[in-house]
Amino acid sequence: MSGNESRLQAIYEITNREPFTPAPSESLDELWATNVFSLSKMKATLPKDIFKSLEKTIKTGNKLDMSVADSVASAMKEWAMSKGASYYAHVFYPLTNATAEKHDGFISPQSDGSVISEFSGSLLVQGEPDGSSFPNGGIRDTFEARGYTAWDVTSPAYILETENGSTLCIPTIFVSWTGEALDKKVPLLRSIAVVNKAANRVLTLLGNSEVAPVNSSCGAEQEYFLVDANFANIRPDLLLAGRTLFGRPPAKGQQFDDHYFGAIPSRIQHYMQDVERELYKLGIPAKTRHNEVAPGQFEIAPVYEMANVASDHQQMLMTILRNTAKQHGLVCLLHEKPFAGINGSGKHVNWSIGNATQGNLLDPGDTPEENTQFLLFCGAVIRGVHKFGPLMRAVIASASNDHRLGANEAPPAIMSVYLGSQLEQIFEQIKEGKIQGGEHKGTLDMGVDTLPLLTRDAGDRNRTSPFAFTGNRFEFRAVGSHQSVSGPLVTLNTMMADSLNYIADQMESKMSGGASLNDAILAVLQSIMTEHGAAVFGGNGYSEEWHKMAVEERGLKNLPTTADALPYLQSPEVKALFSSTHVLSPVELESRYEVYAEQYINSIDVEAKLVAEIAKTRIYPAAMRHLTDLGGALTSLKEAGIEMDRSSLDQVAGLTKTMLEKASELSEAITKHDFADTEAHMQYCATTIRPLMDEVRAAADALEGEVADDLWPLPTYQEMLFIK
Ligand code: ADP
Ligand code: MG
Repeated sequence: MSGNESRLQAIYEITNREPFTPAPSESLDELWATNVFSLSKMKATLPKDIFKSLEKTIKTGNKLDMSVADSVASAMKEWAMSKGASYYAHVFYPLTNATAEKHDGFISPQSDGSVISEFSGSLLVQGEPDGSSFPNGGIRDTFEARGYTAWDVTSPAYILETENGSTLCIPTIFVSWTGEALDKKVPLLRSIAVVNKAANRVLTLLGNSEVAPVNSSCGAEQEYFLVDANFANIRPDLLLAGRTLFGRPPAKGQQFDDHYFGAIPSRIQHYMQDVERELYKLGIPAKTRHNEVAPGQFEIAPVYEMANVASDHQQMLMTILRNTAKQHGLVCLLHEKPFAGINGSGKHVNWSIGNATQGNLLDPGDTPEENTQFLLFCGAVIRGVHKFGPLMRAVIASASNDHRLGANEAPPAIMSVYLGSQLEQIFEQIKEGKIQGGEHKGTLDMGVDTLPLLTRDAGDRNRTSPFAFTGNRFEFRAVGSHQSVSGPLVTLNTMMADSLNYIADQMESKMSGGASLNDAILAVLQSIMTEHGAAVFGGNGYSEEWHKMAVEERGLKNLPTTADALPYLQSPEVKALFSSTHVLSPVELESRYEVYAEQYINSIDVEAKLVAEIAKTRIYPAAMRHLTDLGGALTSLKEAGIEMDRSSLDQVAGLTKTMLEKASELSEAITKHDFADTEAHMQYCATTIRPLMDEVRAAADALEGEVADDLWPLPTYQEMLFIK
């Protein structure tokens, strides 16, 4: 099929789709957590003492009593088999942002030739997948392949239903034979434990007599694009790189803002309902759905949960978004920038810490100036962002997220914290040494008696800040849409623990020197603001003035690319942070740097190869056909005495030549392999390969505006974004 025929075929398929028949609607009660081996199911099926012991571990973080494993495994198996599962899988989270599963049957052959179904405690507790192909960043050689998975009892087991049947899934950690973390869960669990300890110290110092375990919470807002599979299947860039490497912006993009929060198209609504149905069955509390800024872009947000469970649920949510899309003839794009010139996708990670006795520790209440407990926890965040801003940038660094950060639509690559006018005022006063109080919540009277009086928040929102206080939590807005939330959560928890320990140390020493509790608090807060207040910024994060001021006056780092940001994982401050808290050993940290750097280099390499290939094998032939067809016609006309303007044709000739030259240059550039070190290789990708890709694309996109549409080989932006 020639270029345009496959496009027309795709459009035909889409516009002649069988109408979708929605599944019979079920009530929330019928669906909710039916596929989760929840506490209530455990309570109903386990002996009382075993349930009590397990519940204690789950709720308070007490050490797991291994003797419960056999009973739990047997109850889990019975339940899973009653739901039609004959396989179980240890599910783990390797460093690739993906979710990995190794499936094993319950079947166990007996010596007499019969089989029984079996699932022992030891199989529940520990597994040994052949982990040699997972990235480990030099922790082991491939011939030393042993890796272990181990049951994470704090995240519930569940049944995953796919076209291929049902599987009992058990969330696990993944470690090497030498005991080093090879996954994203181990550090997350460690970071949850350290922030608990540190918060406890501070809460106890503040005189709280009862302090329940402190946990961190996460609610992640997920943005995504949907494109019809008929289009995606004929775009090798979407298939292999998850984004368009070519494509001219459509005449109508998002300039009218008419998609944002607009009516959801019915095909998409069916999709969303199916996604939500699957999520409810898995006990994932999906709550908000709406259209996003760009055409074809949407958002889903569940209610926040404890960080560890939220992180597992977030991984499941991404899987379900993708799988359900397939069933609806769609492709769900989680890439941060699938379409140039159109808004990208982020994942806003809403984060807070709190416990059962003191509640949400980031809740300012109505009069934050009197709430010293809140001020201390908020001060701890400010210190963390200032000390570890480059780390925050590094953990969200990827080849794909680089397209968003700093591109004037997403938060800038400079890490700062937005507090809102009320808190900013109070923290300014703290710096001056005297708290006087600030603006308070107000009301908005719309002047129409039938309308309710609206409550006005003490601070507005700031869309341009990478890390913003939003009333009772911080929202890390710079996280990319395809990323695991675990890295950001590990960083936030760990830097928080570091700050809280610093605060506790300072307060203890001041109080042992005779200072009153209040004086000690004020003194610590004041010194935090003096040393770290530079991270607080309430203005426009997109503006040029901020980029200049942040770097030149405030000494903050602007790290536009992954190549600039990732090396911070090796900095002495970051090493010290993770070693002192035991969240990541130096070897584990180093391995993460190596893995993420390699991922960056590999993804740019794949994209570069695709750019060269598509330019040479698809766009170049289309342009040449155009030149032949129209050039021939012009010659005939000229012979007949009709002279026509050749400028468009000359332009096509010029652009084709440039595109081909640049594509060859790119093919040549990616053969270079002699680099001093990983950092040099990353810089080469960022400063040589990427710009060359852009040059090939610029010529190709210009050609798209000149070449006959019936020859154009790739579905256009207009088609992909507007035909549903
Ligand atoms: P918005 O678009 O206004 O930021 P959404 O309702 O789309 O808000 O998403 C906000 C997310 O923040 C939700 O997942 C919500 O459950 C979560 N959230 C609310 N309160 C907290 C909290 N205290 N800690 C963590 N997350 C929270
Ligand atoms: Mg939000």
